[in-house]
Amino acid sequence: MNDKIRLRFAPSPTGALHIGGVRTALYNYLFTQKMGGTLILRIEDTDQTRYVPGAEAYILESLRWLGMEFDEGPGIGGDFGPYRQSERKSLYGKYAQNLIDSGNAYYAFDTAEELTAMREAYESRKETFRYDGITRQELNNSLTLSAEEVKTKLENGDPYTIRLKVPRDEEVVINDIVRGEVVFRTNELDDKVMLKGDGMPTYHLANIVDDHLMKISHVVRGEEWLPSTAHHVLLYRFLGWEDTMPQFAHLPLILKPSPDSYITKENKVALAERLVDEFFNKNEEIDQSYRSDALAFLSQIFQDKKNVVSKLKISKKDDDNKRALKVFLKSNLSGKLSKRDGDRLGFPVFPLSWVGETKEDSFKGFREFGFMPQAMLNFLAFLGWNPGTEQEIFSLPEMVDAFSLDRIGKAGARFDFDKAKWFNQQYLIQSDNATLVELLKPMVKEKNYEVTDEYLTAAVGMMKERVNTLPEIIETGYYFFEPVKEYEEKMIHKKWNPDRKTALLDLKEQLENLPDYQAEKLEASTKTYLEANGLSFGDVFPFYRIALSGTTKGPALFEMMEALGKAEVEKRLLTAFPAFDEVFATKTNS
Ligand code: GLU
Repeated sequence: MNDKIRLRFAPSPTGALHIGGVRTALYNYLFTQKMGGTLILRIEDTDQTRYVPGAEAYILESLRWLGMEFDEGPGIGGDFGPYRQSERKSLYGKYAQNLIDSGNAYYAFDTAEELTAMREAYESRKETFRYDGITRQELNNSLTLSAEEVKTKLENGDPYTIRLKVPRDEEVVINDIVRGEVVFRTNELDDKVMLKGDGMPTYHLANIVDDHLMKISHVVRGEEWLPSTAHHVLLYRFLGWEDTMPQFAHLPLILKPSPDSYITKENKVALAERLVDEFFNKNEEIDQSYRSDALAFLSQIFQDKKNVVSKLKISKKDDDNKRALKVFLKSNLSGKLSKRDGDRLGFPVFPLSWVGETKEDSFKGFREFGFMPQAMLNFLAFLGWNPGTEQEIFSLPEMVDAFSLDRIGKAGARFDFDKAKWFNQQYLIQSDNATLVELLKPMVKEKNYEVTDEYLTAAVGMMKERVNTLPEIIETGYYFFEPVKEYEEKMIHKKWNPDRKTALLDLKEQLENLPDYQAEKLEASTKTYLEANGLSFGDVFPFYRIALSGTTKGPALFEMMEALGKAEVEKRLLTAFPAFDEVFATKTNS
């Protein structure tokens, strides 16, 4: 145990925890485990306006499902609690006061209306308003008002916020474990609010105070927090804590999948239409008459799938509509992965399903897509980190062993759903059938399939290498549980020969007469039959397979026959052959 290494995962309960957050949790977990340190869960719920009921429970349930255990946190305990910032509210005021007293923060009395008016005035001049070292000189705060005025306002209970007084003309240098030296110029920073009108601290103040009080040694978090880190370093400095400041590691962004991984011949028209619909919804000022041009542009760029994004460069020749379209497409087809991408493109970006207030805010999770938690972790581990070897499959303990912060990359990591499925498949193949059977039972029950454990084990054994996720075993392999719904027509059209029926039925009978309806025996007997009758495997196998499973791509024939059993096989063959004749007839007639 190394009590100097203390890391925290500090989610805000503002909705479902997306995979970026899960990856942050995972890297915190891996590093802590590797170092024998302590892992803390801290709920950062100071922003009451963004608080979403159920989000904290969702976070806890996700972490539990994934098997990441914490040492301290809400419901777990620890010496540094409470671990929910809302329950620490009374603690932060004195640090804000401390900043005021040392001249590093000030009271700002500007009302929300005044600030909005200010923002609008700037916008009308195509500028962006920022409360900073320059503008604060003109605003309503304790730096511009006289001491007397300030005193009166405070005594009158006038609402105020406390803002950080960012110094002018300085540089703040951060040595980030992932990004190396990062330099910020203070003139680019705003005077962030530390304490809000409702007396609650902002994320920035609470985060720094808590990291200090909880003796956090390393802050491992997403790159989106890098710009705030300059403020955080200033806070450590002003509060006199710079010498125990944690080390920072900012994780790379998770990027959208590359369009060529999801644009297919089948979906490209629908995808183009959906994007154009969204484009017009977002840009109401654009005339609908542009729609056909927009669709034409999309169908043109979708033709060269690999270079879709490079075709979105804005050129001087583009008119306003095209420019707007390109900007829109760029933000939808490239850049940071967003929670909407999952829905649009049909993959999960959350660990578990989330039911939000609206349909748009409800998402299906990795778990519900049929992923195993270990596979999801393995997939996420590689979104930004690599072990420097060829090994791809890591159990959690193996991952801990191989993990180090200095093997985290700076470049954005591209989300690749096919890779996620590949990982899951590897875990399915590796898992023993009995475990999978247990996981599958609730789904089998939900479908009202009645089968024995032994039968389910056989089906799982045959199907697990043919699917990417657990539910697919009963979706793709439904024919283990109910009659074949549809026969693969192409093969029948191409190869069926109604005259072959006699031999197929003859063989069926020979097999039924075997004392043992068992795979190897069935195979041996079939071979003998084929040889004796001058037939080849190809004359028989495809039709038996289609008859039993609807497809030629199902599991090995004789194993499947053994599992289904003599009576069921007979039933399926007798139903299938006349059906093949019919399917075949549709070909000759057309
Ligand atoms: N509460 C912040 C979040 O939701 C934590 C950022 C940090 O780790 O400092 O991501």
